[in-house]
Amino acid sequence: MTPEADDKLNDFFGRMGRGASPILLLDYDGTLARFRLDRFQATPFAGVRQLLTAIQRQGHTRMAVITGRPASEIGPLLGLDTPLEVWGLHGAERLYPDGRREMEETPPAAREKLDELRRRLSVDSLGGRFEDKPNAAVMHWRGCSHDKAKHVEQRTRRLFEPLALIDGLGLLEFEAGLELRTGRDKGGAVEAILAESSPTAPVAFLGDDLTDEAGFRAINSLGPRGLSVLVRREYRETAAQVWLRPPAELRTFLDRWLRTVERQRTGNRNHGMDRPPAYDRAEQLACGIS
Ligand SMILES: [Mg+2]
Repeated sequence: MTPEADDKLNDFFGRMGRGASPILLLDYDGTLARFRLDRFQATPFAGVRQLLTAIQRQGHTRMAVITGRPASEIGPLLGLDTPLEVWGLHGAERLYPDGRREMEETPPAAREKLDELRRRLSVDSLGGRFEDKPNAAVMHWRGCSHDKAKHVEQRTRRLFEPLALIDGLGLLEFEAGLELRTGRDKGGAVEAILAESSPTAPVAFLGDDLTDEAGFRAINSLGPRGLSVLVRREYRETAAQVWLRPPAELRTFLDRWLRTVERQRTGNRNHGMDRPPAYDRAEQLACGIS
């Protein structure tokens, strides 16, 4: 970690005791869980479920997942004690912990074009893997050979790019895929969460993909109370202020969050510092050692 990133982390955690209750915003795939071609196999990294459960049990952090998936997929995969706030479809959908669900409205002309495209791709997926979402047509080429990926990408761009000019439709680039969609992006989801939160609350957003960059930028605009974190094995150009390699550095980060809140709640600055990190215990539990 660079000295600047280290300073930023220390400053952020130092502020956590002084502001309102902190907000922890998390992408799912690639951030909390390793990628799987079968996305229903993408369970969290060892120890992550236990750490998030512990943060949730403290009852002091507003925690939400912001994902490209339909929101309902996250709860069963994460397996926390109690339901979590999830913003699905990159923010176009909101699932409340009590089960209420909201979808953004789509302009009729955009809806019509999108439905036409989804019907066409369900018959011919251009050689890639077509994902049909309520607000989007998504083409994936993850796992394809280099040449095949290039071919699928070219065909997808030729089809999607002219449609993206229609009012209400937009393109979303992500690693190994392209999405034509309606609705807010992850930056819009972060802004919507901020709009209903205390203006002094420390807010962190953790993500791995290009689609998370809009969220990082929204966080960066907050100044010192915001922390944007790229979670990724290899570094890439990013707007994020801090880079963590999963899963070990992610666990260390979540454990620090847990301890900082714990100290804040108990008022004892040394509390918890003489015990091993919670992720050691979490890893034991994940490996079935009780
Ligand atoms: Mg991701």
